[in-house]
Amino acid sequence: MKIEIISTGDELITGQILDTNANWLCQQLFSQGLQPQRLHTVADNLNDLVALFIESSQRSDVVLVNGGLGPTSDDLSAQAAAVAMQVPLVLNHSWLKTMEQKFAERGRVMAKANIKQAMLPQSSEVIDNANGTACGFSFTFNQARFYFTPGVPHEFKLMFSSQIWPDIATRFALNNKLMQYKITTFGLGESAIDDLIQDIVIPEQLHLGYRTASPEIEVKLISSDADAIKQVAQQIELKLADYMVFTSDESDTSAEKIQHLMLAKQATLALAESCTGGMIASNLVAIAGSSAYLDRAMVTYSNQAKQDLVQVSAETLSNHGAVSEATAIEMAKGAQRSANSDYALSVTGIAGPGGGSESKPVGTVAFALATPTETYSQMLVLPGKSRTMTRKIASAIALDMLRRHLQDLPVCGHYDFAPEWQAN
Ligand code: AMP
Ligand code: MG
Repeated sequence: MKIEIISTGDELITGQILDTNANWLCQQLFSQGLQPQRLHTVADNLNDLVALFIESSQRSDVVLVNGGLGPTSDDLSAQAAAVAMQVPLVLNHSWLKTMEQKFAERGRVMAKANIKQAMLPQSSEVIDNANGTACGFSFTFNQARFYFTPGVPHEFKLMFSSQIWPDIATRFALNNKLMQYKITTFGLGESAIDDLIQDIVIPEQLHLGYRTASPEIEVKLISSDADAIKQVAQQIELKLADYMVFTSDESDTSAEKIQHLMLAKQATLALAESCTGGMIASNLVAIAGSSAYLDRAMVTYSNQAKQDLVQVSAETLSNHGAVSEATAIEMAKGAQRSANSDYALSVTGIAGPGGGSESKPVGTVAFALATPTETYSQMLVLPGKSRTMTRKIASAIALDMLRRHLQDLPVCGHYDFAPEWQAN
């Protein structure tokens, strides 16, 4: 089904307001497995509106028009629709009555200008607006069904959900609904993923796309054919191997995936964070129920804190530095000891932009994972990243180490964007 969204209004064009309505609409459609082909933003200009209505009527099935239904002279949507279809604007007596009642209920007299809001292109159907005076309306023009809605967000949203969407679903018999399946990966860039899966045959009825959700990358499969999704997903998952973090079947975020894995193991976790400054903890506690496995998280930022809270030795700090595998290992072991937890993760690094040196440039980050039997560590370099991005990626790598261990995969994976640190 071909869908276009047309947002109107000088306030959008001049950047005074953001087009949150179109954004919301896209989300609603997407949740139904639909995607518009085009989004337009048009100024309050009659000729531009008319031209676009005619154009879109010839190539789309559904055109959703938002804004321009107010009482003032700059609200032109109904007039433009009438001009496009070459029909007159006709007074809708029933909506006029409704408007008069709405004003009377609020003890106000309706201004003459409001009559304009009941003037609809001939043979339009009214879309009720429970929250305001501008009714919406719909009609079929050429091959498209048009739906007009006012710009006021709470009016528009209710009208779409309660009247427009049900009408679209019925009119277009949307029973072969599109389904979406998402595979979230970590460690490979988009092009590397593309290379990896290029031999897989993608059937015509299936759409494959990528979305970067930094630092993770999502591979999305969209189709109305559940079997096609399943088949292709299986092949992709096999190729992605340990780069696959989770699928939309099991969770929405890496933190949620970690929670599933930790609860299944009935294990507990402690954290000692330096450069991530609590970001890992914050990601984990965002998921309800995290208290069942997360015992504590310490932000051990200074050398003193590393000594006081997780018993990193002064020798280790002076011999290897705060950013070193030796320090990360002691942080993880210290956190594990102090919490008496099954697992502990630690991160210590140089988030930048200052603080780097020749041997340990900005972006150098050491990680350790203490498990009941062993402690794993690695030191990587995240070059050319902002402070925020460095901390985000470091948090993700730490969680990835735990995820890998819990899934019996090699704890230290390969990350395209983070080469191993080399002593020089
Ligand atoms: P209108 O129906 O064009 O007169 O718009 C009425 C009000 O709704 C505007 O003054 C804006 O505050 C708001 N509005 C209009 N269009 C949008 C949009 N696309 N997204 C969010 N708010 C909007
Ligand atoms: Mg307007």
